[in-house]
Amino acid sequence: MDYPGNLFVVAAPSGAGKSSLVKALLELDSHVQPSVSHTTRAPRGQEKHGREYFFASESEFDAMVRADAFVEWAHVHSHRYGTSKKAIEERMSQGADVILEIDYQGALQIKKIFSNAVTIFILPPSWEELRSRLERRGEDSATVIDIRLENAAEEVAQVGQFDFVIINESFDRALFDLKSIVHSQRLKFLAQRRARAQTFQALHIP
Ligand code: 5GP
Repeated sequence: MDYPGNLFVVAAPSGAGKSSLVKALLELDSHVQPSVSHTTRAPRGQEKHGREYFFASESEFDAMVRADAFVEWAHVHSHRYGTSKKAIEERMSQGADVILEIDYQGALQIKKIFSNAVTIFILPPSWEELRSRLERRGEDSATVIDIRLENAAEEVAQVGQFDFVIINESFDRALFDLKSIVHSQRLKFLAQRRARAQTFQALHIP
């Protein structure tokens, strides 16, 4: 499938700073739009249906799987999460850049379907730093943190399958890296020819 917009897929172990980086990018760049996933987990805190996620019951999720409504879906931390076709195709066909913040299994599935998707993996600078970020967050018990770190080791082992790697040691540097990846896609020949059609015509470039 060829869409005018770019599809960016960001994966990272929990605590690596993925959500904060994507949030900062969205605030800076209105041309990038998030895709809202479906999940069977319950809303947390101030989360709103249709904003952070579409919260679905197990049977609603099953029905969407049966109707082939997902581009990808996966079990993550004992719940199901999925990206609906509708969530990304509508936006991308209008030329927007869409960013997905999903787990590595979903990211690799997306790459198989959309070969032009740009996959980005965010690494923590060290295991010690990841542990202390999870501890500072104060959301999880010591046992849950141990489980998250075990899962993280499995996730990090997949980094070689991604197009780009950002090491989130300094937030500003990592945000600069993410912006650079997004910007570089817009400088590709086909993207420039589409975005700057008049200039290309004036230069007699077919
Ligand atoms: P949380 O419940 O903390 O919001 O998200 C848990 C994990 O699920 C995160 O790694 C998040 O990126 C991932 N996730 C969120 N939406 C999707 C999705 O649509 N597909 C997949 N595969 N993972 C998702």
